[in-house]
Amino acid sequence: MDTFRDIEEMRDWCRRQQRSGRTVGLVPTMGALHEGHLSLVRRANAECDCCVTTIFVNPTQFAAGEDLSRYPRPLEEDLDLLRGEGVEAVFLPTDSVMYPEGFGTYVSPPPVARRLEGESRPEHFRGVTTVVTKLFQIIPADAAFFGQKDYQQLRVVEHMVRDLNMPIRIVPCEIVREADGLAMSSRNRYLSESERETALSLSRALDRAAASFESGERNVDSLEQTMKAELAKCDKVDYAVVADADTLEPLCEIEQRAVVLVAAHVGRTRLIDNRIL
Ligand code: AMP
Repeated sequence: MDTFRDIEEMRDWCRRQQRSGRTVGLVPTMGALHEGHLSLVRRANAECDCCVTTIFVNPTQFAAGEDLSRYPRPLEEDLDLLRGEGVEAVFLPTDSVMYPEGFGTYVSPPPVARRLEGESRPEHFRGVTTVVTKLFQIIPADAAFFGQKDYQQLRVVEHMVRDLNMPIRIVPCEIVREADGLAMSSRNRYLSESERETALSLSRALDRAAASFESGERNVDSLEQTMKAELAKCDKVDYAVVADADTLEPLCEIEQRAVVLVAAHVGRTRLIDNRIL
């Protein structure tokens, strides 16, 4: 497995693969890898001839006061996991490689970024669209694999790629959960035992909304109340909503493909989850 910190060397590696007729799958991550990330790697290896993973805790998508400085960075463990999955190249840029002195160009996110995470974390998606664009320039892969765990992020990236004609295929991947339903997340490492129990209320809220929908409920207010009741044990609920599955616009009655999304704080940890109805 080759590791690269340098942009030109990383790009050359990718181009060399493609010149020799191999397709390249890209899996961008912030590290602290778990089965969710590895499921993306496996999908990339299944659909492409080789997989590049990036590990970069992107400062521009964190606001002041968020968890940038305490974000877990177990690099050696991460590299062992990627080696075990047969990843051929890992890109590990430093902050100054990605954002050198004088950096000043940002990608303005599409309208699907405005609500939900966009309201709770105002600069977040501008950081995401900027870093993902940079990664696509550095690693001109054939396909990039994103988890539905970050549902709005996936839509934001899909809309950006469509709007800016970026020559890359975006592949959405299923959410990987713990046996009890908790969506896997690098941030689960922050949770104490009792917080871990409280955190289950996110997936339970989604399950209750889905059960209610399956038994015929189409009224959004009612579904949202059901979720909020389940989330009552959390320290703060940022949102618990039903939205259009593509645009994430709010709905009153469900007449199209819809998604339920929740974001809540458990202690100092902010968690998100979602489920397509
Ligand atoms: P992150 O390291 O949190 O930025 O995540 C990197 C990629 O892994 C993103 O595309 C996430 O959506 C995806 N991912 C994170 N957790 C999961 C999960 N539990 N299931 C599937 N994909 C995930």
